[in-house]
Order: sequence, then structure tokens, then C-alpha cells
Amino acid sequence: MKKLFYEDIHIVDFEAIVVDCVADEGFYRVSLNQTAFFPEEGGQGADRGTLAGFSVVDVQIEQGVIWHFVEQPLTVGSVVTGHVDWEQRFDYMQQHSGEHIVSGLVHGRYGYDNVGFHLGKEEVTFDFNGSLNLSQLREIEAEANRIIWQDLPVRVTFPNKEKLEQMEYRSKLELTEDVRIVEIPGVDSCACCAPHVDTTGQIGVLKVTGVQSHRGGVRVTILCGARAVKEFTVHQDSVTAISTLLSAKQDAVAEAVFHLKEENLRMKERANELQARLLALQVSTLPSPDVQSSVILFTGDLDTIALRNTVNSLCERYSGYCCIFSGDDNRGYRYIIGSASLDCRQAATILRETFGAKGGGTAPMVQGSIMADAKDIQNTLRF
Ligand SMILES: [Zn+2]
Repeated sequence: MKKLFYEDIHIVDFEAIVVDCVADEGFYRVSLNQTAFFPEEGGQGADRGTLAGFSVVDVQIEQGVIWHFVEQPLTVGSVVTGHVDWEQRFDYMQQHSGEHIVSGLVHGRYGYDNVGFHLGKEEVTFDFNGSLNLSQLREIEAEANRIIWQDLPVRVTFPNKEKLEQMEYRSKLELTEDVRIVEIPGVDSCACCAPHVDTTGQIGVLKVTGVQSHRGGVRVTILCGARAVKEFTVHQDSVTAISTLLSAKQDAVAEAVFHLKEENLRMKERANELQARLLALQVSTLPSPDVQSSVILFTGDLDTIALRNTVNSLCERYSGYCCIFSGDDNRGYRYIIGSASLDCRQAATILRETFGAKGGGTAPMVQGSIMADAKDIQNTLRF
């Protein structure tokens, strides 16, 4: 099988003879005498496109044979036309060549090896066997972009055994034959089977978008070319929206959000304080323990400690059930029921059976949550 992508990376339309066609889990695996489709290999996703007008949904290589997965069977011996989706191919080329530059620079500066690589439709990640932080990677990013803008050639060679033995290159393999070397002069040499851009300028731009600890080293994510521009647009729209909402300059949105959160916290504390005062007023207007032994109070949002303290002080005055429901009819209530003499679990059972309330506890105190209207709760808990 002739690999047309090694003859010329720009071949997107080609003719080929169908060599084999096998049904495989709802699809048909097709092999050809030659192909421009690059299969999933070396961490990079497969090319997409069409074969005889049918979508190629996947391309895999097994024991040197490239299999194209299509939805319809193709006649063995027939001549078919293939078309590779250039937009995706070029996108993968931009990302992959960008990765080589970063890996080459990191190897040169820190001596780390690239020990993992994944290039898919959404993400480019690669792993180094050593630690790097974002500021170190930003220096690498700046250097990588300088190399991109120098528009250096990306050379692909298959050196012979003798030459290979003398060469310094990354991803050194045991193999000594048919090793494909991708070289960016003065920057990187690496054994690699994938399609690459012709010159570094075609990468356009490179952005390091993340770094995280991974198996004793780091996992780095980058975006190159059109992906970087697309991501910039997403971020731009997001920051513009936040900036408008907060009436803050775009480079000051983080500070504005920080102030907003602080203000929110202060307001929550104030609301809690007012709610506690209101609850104290409600408690002061309750009927005397001589008139009724159980009490039910409904209050707005209040922290659990304040609720529990109030229930405890009510239990000192009232011998029956002392119930507090905190929340509102729309969002539901958190409840605490206490009693000095009765088993509160019985009250919890009534709430569970009637309203599907959650919660539990011990005989002197139960707590939980309930989705019901205050009116209905009050009518149910008639002690
Ligand atoms: Zn590579």
C-alpha cells in the first residue's frame, strides 16, 4: 500500500483500487492499493473525508495495513476516488508541528523527554518527565512563536542506518530502518510518522493554555493556528460579557469579581443577622406554654447553628414539639424539630410519609429538608 501522505502532504484527492472490504461492527473496513488518508497513529487522530462518496468515519493501521471505515461496502477490484478533509488535516498539522517545537525547546532547555502525546479534535496534550511551571512555559511559548515567525523549513527525511546512528534526535526507536525524521533546523529533530506543515510559519501562532502535574512530571496543553484564534474569540466574548455586567475594564474583571464576592459575603452576613432578629421577635410573640405545648415557626434562610440554638431555647419553655422551618415555599425548607419529652422521630416520619421529606435524627432532635408549602406543613403538624 502506497502512503501518498508521505509522497506529498498536499494530496487530498486521489484514485485507488479497492484491495479488500470486510464487514466490521456496522461498518465496512476497506483497504486500498494507495491512500492519502493518515490513520490514527502516534497519538494523533485519523484523517476524515470520503471514499467513493461515502464518509470515512475512521482510519486505522493494523500490521502495516491501513483500513478505512465506511458505511457502505465497496467492490474489491474497483477504482474509487478518495477525498481527504483538508481543513482537519491542516489543523492537525499545525498542532503537531507546534508540539514538536515546544517539545524540542523543552528538551533543549531542561533535558526533559516528551513521554505522552494526544492530538484530537478538541485538545492537544503532551507529557514531560519533569516539572515545569506556567511562567517557564510562557518563555518557551515566546521562543516557539519567534521560531514560527522565522518561517523555518520543516524537513522530512528517512536517513540510512549509518547516518541515523550518528544523529541526535528525540523519540529514538530501536528501529534502524525506515525511521522518519522530522527536523526543524536548529530547533528539533524527532522520529515521527505524522504529517507536518512545510514551514513553521504555517503554524501561525502557538499558545500554551495549561499545565498540570502528571505522573511525576507535567501535562501541557497548547493551541496552534486557527484553534488559538477560535479560543481567543470564546474568551473575548466571555470577558466582554463579564466586563459589561460589572461595568469594569476588561483587564480588571478579576478584581471586580473579587469585590463582588466580598460584598456578597457581607450581605449574606447582614441578611442572616436580620433574619435572626426577626426570629427572636417571632419567638417573643408565641403563645404562652400554658396555652399550647408545641410550637411551629417559619423563617427565611438562616444558618443551622442559629436554628438549633433557637430550637434548644424553645425546648426549655415548651414541653411538646418545637419546630423551625427555614426557607420558602418555592425552594423548600430545612427543618429542625426538638423536644424535651416527645420522640421527634415520629414527627419526622409524618413529614416523610406525607411530603417525602428527607432527614432523621434522635428522639430529642431531628433535622432534614422538605419540599412543601408552609400552609400544608402547618395543617399536617397539628399537635
Ligand atoms: Zn510527532
